[in-house]
Amino acid sequence: MITDNAIRAVVFDLDNTLYDYDAAHAPAFRALTDFACREFGLTPEEFVQRHRAAEKELGRRCGANCAAVHNRLIRYQVLLEGLGRPIGRAPEMSRLYWSTLLNAMKPYPGAIQMLERLREMGLAVGIGTNMTADNQYEKLIRIGAMERIDFLVTSEEVTAEKPDRRLFEACAAKAGCAPDRCLFVGDSLEKDVKGALAAGMRAAWFHPAGDGAEGLPGAWTLERLSDLPGRIAAM
Ligand SMILES: [Mg+2]
Repeated sequence: MITDNAIRAVVFDLDNTLYDYDAAHAPAFRALTDFACREFGLTPEEFVQRHRAAEKELGRRCGANCAAVHNRLIRYQVLLEGLGRPIGRAPEMSRLYWSTLLNAMKPYPGAIQMLERLREMGLAVGIGTNMTADNQYEKLIRIGAMERIDFLVTSEEVTAEKPDRRLFEACAAKAGCAPDRCLFVGDSLEKDVKGALAAGMRAAWFHPAGDGAEGLPGAWTLERLSDLPGRIAAM
């Protein structure tokens, strides 16, 4: 039965929430490191240091609250500028990273079935993510989530990053309900959980480590995505 304060929409973070980003990033970064060592004569340690410096420099240029900070094409451009190498290699590096990551990524166990179940329950299902749109579309298609969601909000389109409330407000607007009827699910306590609570949403911390870590007062802690439909139904 849908009660008066029932949840109407569930919004998910994407990276490290619907799939294991860290596991997919590892081979992608390895491929990129191999490329840079081979093409530019760097040691792996030098490349890692250059990469870190480029990340920092890009953050300085565009500010933290901006999706461009995640743009690897610009990051590699900055890296090549620092190396004094032709920036024409940047697209190749970006493509290598993303194609390797996309090939390696897998949804978390039960993630796709869980999305289907939520929609069968009559809930709107969306994604609210800090990232550029083109990469997030590719990932959602790759894990089979694209046709199982009702809406997507990227920090690129709202020009603000979680925990900025504007991203959460855009999610509620697309869900067509008040923020307090939305449950936001994500792996970051700072960006996802605190941000959602501050924007008036309910929140669940996805924490699959199984180490018994405490979440935040007023938020659920979720070890398995497959538990979510049952917990919502039991409210
Ligand atoms: Mg995340």
